[in-house]
Amino acid sequence: MDLSKVSDQITKVLVTEEQINEKVAELAAELDKKYADKDVLLVGVLKGAVMFMADLSRAMQIPVQMDWMAVSSYGSGTVSSGVVRILKDLDADVLGRHVVIVEDIIDSGLTLSWLVGNLEARGAASVEVVALLRKPAAAKVEVNVGLVGFDIPNEFVVGYGLDYAERYRTLKGVAVLSPAVYS
Ligand code: 5GP
Ligand code: MG
Ligand code: MG
Repeated sequence: MDLSKVSDQITKVLVTEEQINEKVAELAAELDKKYADKDVLLVGVLKGAVMFMADLSRAMQIPVQMDWMAVSSYGSGTVSSGVVRILKDLDADVLGRHVVIVEDIIDSGLTLSWLVGNLEARGAASVEVVALLRKPAAAKVEVNVGLVGFDIPNEFVVGYGLDYAERYRTLKGVAVLSPAVYS
C-alpha cells in the first residue's frame, strides 16, 4: 500500500520505497561479496522482517536458503528483559552453516543479542545480523550487527513489515505513526 493512503495516520515519512530499494540492493551486494562460495542460511525474524527478507534475498545473486523464527520476549511491562521464548523454531539445522539473521529493526537489541547467542550455541559456523533499521538505544548493547540500512530517531515507526496492532505492515515505506492512532 502507498504511504499516501494513510497520510492522515502518519506524521512523517522516514524512508521511502525508493530509498529502501536502493539500500536493499547495496546490502545484497555486500552480502554477495562477503559470502561468495559459502553456505548461507538467511534467518528471518517473524513477522516484521518478511518484506525485508523477500526483497533482500531476491536482490542477492549467490544462492542462499531461507528459514524463519518467531520469538517473544519475556518480561513484565514494556521493558524487554532479554529473556526470550521461541514461538516458532527453525526447520533447518545450523550446524556448520553461515547464518545471517534478517531483522526489521533493532531497538534495545536484547532480543537479537539472545538470538545470536542461541544460534552460535547450536554450532553455526558464523552468525551475523543485517537489520533494515536501527534506533539510537541499540548502540548501548553489544550485538554483532554486521549491516544496517538506516539509523532512525527514537520514534515508533510502521510500514515495510513493521506493525501497530498488526496494521500498516503492507505499507511500501517506513513512517512515524501519529500519536493520535494510539488513543
Ligand atoms: P529489541 O531490539 O528491543 O529487543 O526489540 C526489537 C523489536 O521490537 C523489533 O523486532 C520490533 O518487532 C519491535 N520494535 C521496536 N521498535 C519498533 C518500532 O518503532 N515500530 C514497530 N512497529 N516495532 C518496533
Ligand atoms: Mg523484529
Ligand atoms: Mg510488532
